[in-house]
Amino acid sequence: MDAGQRLRGLSEGVHCLGGRKGGRVRAFLLEAGGELTLVDTLFQDDGAGVLEAIRKLGRSPGDLRRIVLTHAHRSHLGGLAALKRETGATVLAHEWESDIVEGERAAQSVGLKPTRPFRTYPFQVGIFLGRPKHKPCPIDESVSDGDAVGPLEVLHLPGHSPGHLGFHWADRGLVIAGDAIATWPRFEAGCSAFNLNVEQHRKSIRRLASLNARIVGVGHGEPLTQVAADRVHSLVV
Ligand SMILES: [Zn+2]
Ligand SMILES: [Zn+2]
Repeated sequence: MDAGQRLRGLSEGVHCLGGRKGGRVRAFLLEAGGELTLVDTLFQDDGAGVLEAIRKLGRSPGDLRRIVLTHAHRSHLGGLAALKRETGATVLAHEWESDIVEGERAAQSVGLKPTRPFRTYPFQVGIFLGRPKHKPCPIDESVSDGDAVGPLEVLHLPGHSPGHLGFHWADRGLVIAGDAIATWPRFEAGCSAFNLNVEQHRKSIRRLASLNARIVGVGHGEPLTQVAADRVHSLVV
């Protein structure tokens, strides 16, 4: 794991991974019933940071049972192909995102108009150009709202992208919001330049708020661990 990568325990069986790369992109490694579930795969192509985190937890790569994706933006797909190869994990995503992950369709363009906060602009240009490309990986199973994935309940939270997913682990008071909420470069209801459908996105934020989570993991930046429910409610419009 590079010096910027960190493995941070948030609650029993809930670990947050990620450093500075990919716009402080985060992944979540969850332990339940002796199995590991990974949400998203960080930015780097080799998956090495995730494999090191698995070993740090005293587990082996073969313990990773499944990888589930919030959506098909490049920053979240970096380690996917390597991790699938190294672990044999089942890969799951929403049907709408699957052919992008599989390399058969470009991610839907977000346009080129610069929008605050400008620190995310390089990623906006990257999506516009489809560069750098992720390594394609087959999706084994489609998942949608209400499905169970390991200890998680799947939440369909469209807006940032049509097949954007979040995840709820009720016993842990945990919600993983993906890019529906960002805390880097600033706390907001996702970077507005990247939200494809504003109305759907507002609905998704209302849904997240209704869960009153104690811990909220986000796609970019540190998780919310203090008065998290209040902070998510503050994003409802
Ligand atoms: Zn995204
Ligand atoms: Zn993202």
